[in-house]
This record gives sequence, structure tokens and C-alpha cells, in this order.
Amino acid sequence: MKTVPEYFGSMVFDDRVMKARLPEGVYRSLRRTMDQGERLDLSVANAVAEAMKDWAVERGATHFTHWFQPMTGVTAEKHDSFISPAPDGRVILEFSGKELIRGEPDASSFPSGGLRATFEARGYTAWDPTSYAFIKDRTLCIPTAFCSYGGEALDKKTPLLRSMEALNRQAMRVLRLLGDTETTCVRTSVGPEQEYFLIDRALYEKRKDLIYTGRTLFGARPPKGQELDDHYFGAIKPRVAAYMAELNEELWKLGILAKTEHNEVAPAQHELAPIYTATNIATDHNQLTMEIMQKVAAKHGLVCLLHEKPFDGVNGSGKHNNWSMATDTGVNLLSPGEKPFENTRFLLFLSAVIQAVDDYQDLLRLSVATAGNDHRLGANEAPPAVVSIFLGDELTAVLQAIERGEDYTAAAGAVMKLGVHALPRFPKDSTDRNRTSPFAFTGNKFEFRMLGSSNSIACANMMLNSAVAESLRQYADRLEGAADAENEVRQILRDVITAHKRILFNGNGYDAAWLEEAARRGLSNLPTTPDCMPRLLDEKNVEMLTRHKVFSPAELHSRCDIMLENYCKSVEIEAVTMSDMARKEILPAVEAFAAATAEAAGKKKALAPELTLGYETGLVRRLSGLTDRMAEAADALDAAMAALPQGDIIARSEAVRDEILPRMADLRSAADQAELATSQEHWPFPTYGDLLFSVR
Ligand code: ADP
Ligand code: MG
Repeated sequence: MKTVPEYFGSMVFDDRVMKARLPEGVYRSLRRTMDQGERLDLSVANAVAEAMKDWAVERGATHFTHWFQPMTGVTAEKHDSFISPAPDGRVILEFSGKELIRGEPDASSFPSGGLRATFEARGYTAWDPTSYAFIKDRTLCIPTAFCSYGGEALDKKTPLLRSMEALNRQAMRVLRLLGDTETTCVRTSVGPEQEYFLIDRALYEKRKDLIYTGRTLFGARPPKGQELDDHYFGAIKPRVAAYMAELNEELWKLGILAKTEHNEVAPAQHELAPIYTATNIATDHNQLTMEIMQKVAAKHGLVCLLHEKPFDGVNGSGKHNNWSMATDTGVNLLSPGEKPFENTRFLLFLSAVIQAVDDYQDLLRLSVATAGNDHRLGANEAPPAVVSIFLGDELTAVLQAIERGEDYTAAAGAVMKLGVHALPRFPKDSTDRNRTSPFAFTGNKFEFRMLGSSNSIACANMMLNSAVAESLRQYADRLEGAADAENEVRQILRDVITAHKRILFNGNGYDAAWLEEAARRGLSNLPTTPDCMPRLLDEKNVEMLTRHKVFSPAELHSRCDIMLENYCKSVEIEAVTMSDMARKEILPAVEAFAAATAEAAGKKKALAPELTLGYETGLVRRLSGLTDRMAEAADALDAAMAALPQGDIIARSEAVRDEILPRMADLRSAADQAELATSQEHWPFPTYGDLLFSVR
């Protein structure tokens, strides 16, 4: 059996393979493209394509595909085989540089938000040489960006790459102004912690809600949920352990650094975290991880649920986005360091993040907004919909001292002149104790915790990178115009703390009092997707995102439309599914149970006329009351669906939130009560207890 180091990355056309298989000149030219964004020559592309094909064919691949991330949120691929006919009737296997660099899938059915009329359906995929090609299902997958004929981004990768460039540009300006002559680029890194549920496939197949919507739309609370906290970090059950072992193996073959795994808070809930890597690669890897998680589950008779809220009453699933900025020389710019210069640099980059999060709270909020994630944010299991930053007491005290223009006195009693003496070191663990904060400093990185488990991390990171780039741009402008740079840095730090301290909050984010306090501080509270998504088009946001060339105004309009449409469609599918399940499954089942009870009562009465039949009469009355309520609620839901406004997507999304969601809740409430009153034998599909405790 092969050891992990022997098979790690065996399905990836990575640096090792490139070095071994490409002529030296080609390798060096490709590296320059990867590292410095230099244009790729067609002759180089041809040589790379040839080597990729040979390598892939040796590993059993027959097809290639441009692998991209359209606005659907999942990855897309269109497979082409390598075969090409030879004159004598045989086939040869071919793959050209042109095919590697550019593809032209018929893209008319991907959401474009009006960017691409169907009559000019052409969309292009363009190779992203910074993310390695890999083999999946006997297909060579080439990570690509996806854009329209006119060059507008139709995917999540393009703006992410642009935002990384923007951050690099501005961070480099600041570093140069601080006297750094060595660094040649600054990259952001991400380690996303992925939560998920595993349930038994046979039970899943019996529930239309899970099949169509990824979450349960009905289900009374089981006698036991997560009250005992016995699942969190509990021993991993054999079936789950076998799943995780195969999952790790598949991920490792793809060069994905799957590192930690454990049981989460809810029964049947688990988490996987990889070791952090460059943001665009982390994004590709997270998309692949979600796909492989589902694929491997199928092989184990399981289903992996990535929905943010598969079950009411137990915790939902999120994704923690651990984010930092580092230089190509290996310096983490969010690491406090020990020398005065390092402190200054650290404090300036820290301030850039604080200002960015405050100035663009709305962008961060909307970057994680989906119908699914609306169930989590603010539900006392995930951070609230209000964005704030946790820094920990020590760092907060340092910043307060800067604001007051005082020296900082560390707990140990030593006085430190800021920017002159070393800052206290912030041990990683001393800061990582607040689990309720949406945006927490954890020693040398920030952890953005609002992401939903099914979100692509591209969205959050493109906003974060852009917003931080904007803070850094302002600092670079100020430093360029300043006579005394050191003094100007101190002034910038003071200004930032004074203007943005409202975003700092070290307390309990779940506390209702915090929401009031946040309102007093003027922080934005945008609980739902229809509340926050239109903010994408606010002038200040359009101004910033276009200034840094992350989006064009047309792209922003299209994204806002796509995301709101997606919200509406998700909820509408849920509404139709609920109505269908209520009418075709639940009502007939409860009716049958009531009829059986009445029939049994009739038989008992015939046998013994003196019986009072209190149980049966009460039960039939109760069931009958509940079926009436359910039928009324289902009718009201259908009527609300029929009355949804057409045309204006913002109005429709608000109606979906205000008219559809409450009626779904009414229907569910009646059905869940009926479930508690109906015999197990009559209930038409597996219950919460069955689903949550099925995997051993
Ligand atoms: P916890 O559950 O305590 O938050 P984990 O170990 O589960 O911690 O996850 C931490 C994540 O943060 C991992 O993916 C890790 O690789 C990542 N990480 C660590 N250091 C950095 C860094 N400098 N930049 C980005 N991510 C980081
Ligand atoms: Mg974490």
C-alpha cells in the first residue's frame, strides 16, 4: 500500500511534474506566467498542453475539460475527449495549446444577469495558470475563468483574481513606502473550515424536501437533539470514520491539504479543515472538497448535506474563512513580530483590516447572503447579521493607547513606546476564545465566520481583499504626500482607531443587548438577503469596487440580480415542495390515521356500547383540527405564491421574504404538531430522530 507522501498530489499537474516533464525553457516561461502574470507564448502553451495530455493519459484520462465556477455556485465542466481521427482509421490523442488556453462552452444557460443576451450566447473560459490542472473521473480538469464575449466576468474566479491583484498593488505601495525593498508581491491566504452533515442515503431518498431543497421543510423535534453536547468532538463512529478516511485519500490525491476532522455540535454534523493556501487555490480546493464530499458519501450509502440549515432546532453549518496577508518572502503581515519596524507594519495592516470591515460592513454581509444562510445568521448558533471585529483585550488596549497618544503598559508592567519598543507577543490561543464574533483576530489571521457551508468562499474573499486594498490605497496616498513617514504612520493609526473603533466588539455577539448597542453605534444590521443584496449597488460600493477594477458597474448590476433571483428561486422551490408534501403525503397520512382510529372506535362501540371512547374521540377531533389547519395553510401558501410580483426582482425578493416564508412557517407548524399526534406506522417519511441518529 502506498503511503500518503507517495500518493499526495498524484492527480495534480503540479510543480514537481512540470519540472520533470517540461523542457527547461518552457518550465521557466510558465513559472513567470504563474508568478508574475507574464503573458504566455503560444509555443509554450503547446508544449505545456502536450506534456499535460501525456501525463493525464498515462493516468487513465480520456477527456479534458475547462473547469469553471459560474454564478450557480457550483462548478461546471464540459468534457471533450482527446481523440482525433488519423487518415488510416485509427485515432490519435491530441491536446493543443489553444485548447488549453481558451474554451468556448455554449454558455447560454448559465445565469448572467442580463450581461449576455441569448442570441450572443458565447462565453469564454480562460486558463488560470496559477491553479494547477488535475485529474478527476478520468478527465483532465483545467481551472479556468469564465467571461462573456465582451469580457465581463460571468463567474466567481475572475473577480477574486482581480481582487487579489488589487490588494497586491496597494499592499506593495505601502510596503515600499515603509522602506521594504525586498518583497515582490503580497498574497492573501485562506484556510476554510467546512462543516457538513452526514445522513443515511436510504432515509434521504424518502424525503422530497431533502432531495429538492437540501434541507428538511418539516419535522418535529426529536426527544434528543444536541442538548447534551455529547456529539461535539465525540468519538467518530465507524461508518463515519470509514467515510472520512476515503475522503482524505481522495482529497490528498488531488493535492488538497485536508488536515483536521471532528464531530461538530449537532448530531450527524462534522467538520473538515485544510491547511491554508493562496486564496484562489483555496477557493478551487474548497469547491472540489464539497464535490468530493458528496461523491464519497454516495459510495458509503450516505448523503453529505452542505445546506446551511438542514434541520430546524439543531445547529446549522457554516464555513470559517481564516484569512491573512503574506509577502513572497514569507512574512505574515498580520503577525505582530518582534522588532519595532515589524510592529509598525503590523499595526498599519491591522488598521487596514479594521477600517475595511467598518467601511464595507454591508459588502461583507452581502457576500455571504443566501436563502440558506439567512436561517443561520442571528439565530444564536452563528454570528449575528451585524458585522463586528473581535480583537481580544490586549490588542484592544494597545489600540486605545494609540488613540490617546499614550504609551502602552503591558500586563507585565513594562512600558512600551509604540513604534519604538517591541509590542507584547500575542499568543495565538489567548485571543481565540470568542466564538460569537463574526470577524475575529486569532493571533496572526482573521477568522470571518459568517460564511454559509455551501457558499463559495470566492464571494467573501473578493469583498474582503477589495475593501482592504482600499484602506491601503488611502494610507499609501497619505504616506506618499507626507514629509515625515514615521509620524504620518502614527497619525494614520490614530485616525483609523478614532474613526473606526465602533466596529470593535469583544463581548458576546449572541446577546440581544449587543444588537441595541450596535444600533447605537450606527453599525448596519441587515438580517436577510433582500435587505443586504441591493446594497451592492450603493454608490460608495460601486465606486470602490470599480476603482480597484474588481467589477465593472454592469457586472455589479448583473450580480445583484443573479443573487436575488437565486434567493427567490430557492425559497419558491421550497414553497412548492412543501405544498406538494403536505397535500400528497402528510394530509393523506394523517387522514388515514384518523380514519383508522374512527373505524377502530366504531368496532369497539359495536362490541361494547357502554364504552365512552374518550381517547379515540379526542384524537380524531385533534387530527381533524390539524388537517383543517394544514389544508388552510397550504392554500394560503399557494395563493401567496400565485400573487408574487413579476418583473422587479427586489420587490419579488421582499415578497418572498414577507409573504412566502411566514406561510411556510404556518404550514410547517401545523404539520409538525400532526406528526407528534400521528402513529409511527402512518407517518409518510423518516423523522428527525431517524435522520439524525441513523449513521453509526
Ligand atoms: P479553529 O477550529 O481553532 O479555528 P482549525 O485548526 O480548525 O482552528 O482551523 C484553523 C484554520 O486556519 C486552518 O485551515 C489553518 O490552516 C488556517 N490558518 C492557520 N494560519 C493561517 C494563516 N496565517 N492564514 C490563513 N489561514 C490560516
Ligand atoms: Mg475556527
